[in-house]
Amino acid sequence: MKVTRIACSKNLNAHKYGQLAEQARRLGQVRSLAWRKYGALAGVGVSDRTIRDQWMKDGTAETFGVLATDWKETLRDAVADIKANREAAKALVRQTIRRRTTDEAERKRLFTALKRDQWVDDPYLSRLMRKHWKHGQNRTANQIVVRSDLYRTFTVTEGGDVWLAVPSLVRRQLIAIPLNTTVAPTGTLRLILRDGRVEVHYQIDGSSLKSSQRSCGTAKIGVDKGYSEVLTDSKSNHHGQELGGLLRTESDFHKAKNARRAKIQAVAEKARAVGNSAKADRITRNNLGTKKRNRRRRAFEACVRSVTFTAARAVIDKAKHVVAEDLTRSFPAGKKLGKNTNRRLAAWNKGVTAEALHSVSERRGSALTLVNAAYTSQVAPCCRILGTRKGDRLHCTQCGAVWQADHAGAINVLERDGDPDITLHTPHPRVKQIIQERADRRRTRLPVQDSSTPVRRAKYPSQATKLRQQ
Ligand SMILES: [Zn+2]
Repeated sequence: MKVTRIACSKNLNAHKYGQLAEQARRLGQVRSLAWRKYGALAGVGVSDRTIRDQWMKDGTAETFGVLATDWKETLRDAVADIKANREAAKALVRQTIRRRTTDEAERKRLFTALKRDQWVDDPYLSRLMRKHWKHGQNRTANQIVVRSDLYRTFTVTEGGDVWLAVPSLVRRQLIAIPLNTTVAPTGTLRLILRDGRVEVHYQIDGSSLKSSQRSCGTAKIGVDKGYSEVLTDSKSNHHGQELGGLLRTESDFHKAKNARRAKIQAVAEKARAVGNSAKADRITRNNLGTKKRNRRRRAFEACVRSVTFTAARAVIDKAKHVVAEDLTRSFPAGKKLGKNTNRRLAAWNKGVTAEALHSVSERRGSALTLVNAAYTSQVAPCCRILGTRKGDRLHCTQCGAVWQADHAGAINVLERDGDPDITLHTPHPRVKQIIQERADRRRTRLPVQDSSTPVRRAKYPSQATKLRQQ
């Protein structure tokens, strides 16, 4: 697995930054053109080489005003983005096929056609793709991709910080960027220009880091994603409890801030309506900027990522095998999150948590199994029936035990691993049916007087009794 490393420029002078920014702006136009022309059907099955040859032949390339190596690399990057955009739509289409098509052979035929990009000729598939594949648009005009053989790194003083020399707009004239690190970046570089600084993103092989990492634990642990904390494990430990506060504070801040911005926006619009465009421009420039907002967002995201990764590391300190719900599919498609910032932030954090579990277990050598999350937070682990949820408490209607909902969820997630009937792709309603059928079967098998003291309860007596006493 690849791990991204980021180096930053240190004391880069404004003139150099300006040159790089102009280069990135022109390359942004190349990206936009690629998206506009090949972002939809016309781009299916077309490689970046074909587009490149086309653009060199018809003279499009001469209008870019950048070096050939630069725009070619950017084109390759844009085509990869377009492909990723298309593959994301395919994942949704595959979900639909899994739900709707029961015939095994037909399902296989559809999957293959989708994979080989032959869906255009299939009416059913192309209808699904049209539905899920939204035409993307380029919004990137601050990036420069530099191929590994086109830059060089050097140090000015022995053992000092590294300098990076990258191509400029003029052939054979390099721009030297001082970096804030003594480690030279390697491979293909992505320079991202932000607020007068250059971030140098590059990838290294994650497996080479393995030796420097602590090894994982020995237990098999189930984890559940909560709202107030990053993860709760099946041993009732909560990890990353500061997450809830972070999300709430940020959400409250945004709510207040956005209300004030809307008010100022209204004043600006009013001024423009009566012809006072100088005032409107002044407000837009001085009061409605995005610099501080972006800076805050980046700081917040970095903070949440750090909390999330710490929580994942804490779980893997103890676990050899982690069982988690598939966080990337837990929000039903089509369910709108609306204007509620808190929920939107929580949804975003799910992705970060999934990434953290994935990359930390990869690096530390533990296994990660994803299971179906349907109803895991509603089944009482004591009697395995659907309990009643009240806030973060789950009441078992059969034996009267009270569970902390996330803890119960983590136990259920753990038990889903190896479940013969409920697989990762079992549909939601079918899962409910299976749970109820099992409960019915147990009820008829057990004598009536026994059902009030189920055998299962002995397994987790402390938690159940502790909570009942509260
Ligand atoms: Zn129970």
